[in-house]
Amino acid sequence: MAGRNFLFVPGPTNVPDRVLRAMAVPMEDHRSPIFPELTRTVLAGLKPVFKTTAATPILFPSSGTGCWEAALTNCLNLGDKVLVARFGQFSHLWVDMCQRLGFEVEVLETPWGEGAPPERYLTSLAADKQHKIKAVLVCQNETATGVTSDVAAIRKALDSAKHPALLFVDSVSALASIDFRMDEWGVDVCVSGSQKGLMLPAGLGVTCVSQKALEASKTAKAPRCYFDYAAMVNANAQGFFPYTPSVPMMYGLKESLALIAEEGLENIFARHAHLARGVRAAVFEGWGLKLCATEPRWYSDTVSAIMVPDGINGAEVISRAFKRYNLALGAGLSKVAGKLFRIGHLGDLNELMLLGAIAGAEMAMLDVGVKVEPGSGVAAAQKFWRNHAPANAAGAKASKAA
Ligand SMILES: *Cc1c(COP(=O)(O)O)cnc(C)c1O
Repeated sequence: MAGRNFLFVPGPTNVPDRVLRAMAVPMEDHRSPIFPELTRTVLAGLKPVFKTTAATPILFPSSGTGCWEAALTNCLNLGDKVLVARFGQFSHLWVDMCQRLGFEVEVLETPWGEGAPPERYLTSLAADKQHKIKAVLVCQNETATGVTSDVAAIRKALDSAKHPALLFVDSVSALASIDFRMDEWGVDVCVSGSQKGLMLPAGLGVTCVSQKALEASKTAKAPRCYFDYAAMVNANAQGFFPYTPSVPMMYGLKESLALIAEEGLENIFARHAHLARGVRAAVFEGWGLKLCATEPRWYSDTVSAIMVPDGINGAEVISRAFKRYNLALGAGLSKVAGKLFRIGHLGDLNELMLLGAIAGAEMAMLDVGVKVEPGSGVAAAQKFWRNHAPANAAGAKASKAA
């Protein structure tokens, strides 16, 4: 098919041309005397992205899922109890991993479309007088339902219960696109990956580990090998890796960190908020449809999960969009399969790119029998974006304060 494929799944995201070019490098010796400079540049460059000075960024040659496993096996003993809310396919998969690896899981079952419930975390933590819960897990941005949770509120629950459990946060589809604050929120392990807000191909697990979590890993006994923090941290201290790192991915990361620094993290958050609001204008005011996220406080600025009307299969919208219009939309996963389609709006993108996705989704919906007004989604998004300047960081702060 001529022209570009329109990639609007919520990861992998579009890789900027500058990053693609930076990755087209000959292979080099990862034990050479000059290699440590690259290691140090990318690890130091990740710290501001996690908003940390005290914690340690780590790169595994895996995807984000590897960092889930690393958090559990490094910091806990088999049989330890963890507390976690389940409200979508990604929070579900993390629960499933905990169970399969041999941890005891207290699951806070939460309707899909809502976010992590801080008051229920607090109730469980306050009831746990013997501190059997060793880690509290939360998915900051549930990519399956387009729901963003309040991580600071989960930290508050831990603090008000005076509970010493570690706090693990899945920020795979939030980091570098929705605000994340490692130090301020007292996060012990942040789990992320390369192919979402960091605008790279999949293939790097990008994680960050607090001093407290590194301390816990020294005595914790769950079996670990490939994902051992200690081996990684020791090798990284010399600028090296315990096994072969992906050199092109590291050059790509160096370039994407440079792009992030040039735009400015706060400006990136503001751009994502602005783009997301235009997409929501298309959904609500244009098409008259609903999001899976049930309330404005849950709306995600990186992905919108759009409910299709009864009698329509969301999978047909996605199939039509791909085959006829060369547009990749995100599918409904497990419980919400067929009930929705998703537009990913994170990473390297702007209004006009998103108008393409909205136009394509609209045509695909009309083709499979969804009764939306032709042009209505595009018009609503255009109207929103024409009437609202993309807020810069200062503007974003001002509007938050208001
Ligand atoms: C994409 C994603 C994952 C899984 O990451 P992989 O890189 O595919 O292993 C986990 N959690 C969330 C919230 C995600 O969006």
